[in-house]
Amino acid sequence: MNPFRATSTLSTTDRTTLHRLRERGLTDRAALHDVLDAGLVCHLGVVIDGTPVVLPTGYGRIGETLYLHGSSANRALRAAAGAEACVTVTMLDGLVCARSVFHNSMNYRSAVIFGTARLVTAETERLEALRAITEHLIPGRWDNSRRPTRKELAATAVLALSLDEASVKARTGGPKDDDDDYGLDYWAGVLPVTTTVGPAESDPRLKDGVAVPAHIAELQAKPAARVLAVADCPRLER
Ligand SMILES: Cc1cc2nc3c(=O)[nH]c(=O)nc-3n(C[C@H](O)[C@H](O)[C@H](O)COP(=O)(O)OP(=O)(O)OC[C@H]3O[C@@H](n4cnc5c(N)ncnc54)[C@H](O)[C@@H]3O)c2cc1C
Repeated sequence: MNPFRATSTLSTTDRTTLHRLRERGLTDRAALHDVLDAGLVCHLGVVIDGTPVVLPTGYGRIGETLYLHGSSANRALRAAAGAEACVTVTMLDGLVCARSVFHNSMNYRSAVIFGTARLVTAETERLEALRAITEHLIPGRWDNSRRPTRKELAATAVLALSLDEASVKARTGGPKDDDDDYGLDYWAGVLPVTTTVGPAESDPRLKDGVAVPAHIAELQAKPAARVLAVADCPRLER
């Protein structure tokens, strides 16, 4: 059995070991799932012809596997297939204003995943992955859209990355100023940042009589990113 999956604690390999501000590291595998499930965009880092390239893209998760997709001609996806890749997901939760410039900061939750990416070729897994990516972004969309044709599927590459080797870091709370600075007159505090979904804008070419469906109406009412109770997550020791 894969030793990483036998435990709900995240692996600590050389490259996932936090060195700076270790106490911001979250050790629970559930915290990794929460960040990935809350985020909407990931960044795929891969080396193409000797040059590191980091590109934003969508994703979906099934269990302990992250899936990315794109055009079969997508250079980053093609370069990542069978190669070492790094994927990050970041949630910005707040702008932290300290009394000193040095201590201004951000509240965040972020995940870093390393691994050898795998090009998914089995048709069943490809379809499951495409469904997961679609549903991650807009829950309910898979069953409320036309399914991909053979031609569309042939034009789509799907990449899988195991969540075996990953780290999670989070900052919460207010500014942490130097003791001497608390007497200064500068304002300090936190500006919370959230991503929200606005009211649906129907396509001008919408067929007459097609109403906004329930899964879209539901999404309008919610913040796009669920807020994880990071305060309750186990942390790395200092
Ligand atoms: C929104 C946001 C803004 C930030 N702004 C700054 C900034 O302005 N300046 C700054 O120095 N740092 C910032 N950070 C923190 C930054 O991501 C790094 O954690 C930090 O700079 C330490 O870098 P390092 O190379 O010393 O990491 P190390 O501790 O040496 O990293 C070792 C390993 O720890 C893990 N790791 C490190 N950072 C993260 C992370 N953020 N999330 C998940 N796993 C991680 C990775 O697996 C990495 O390979 C920010 C983070 C976020 C999410």
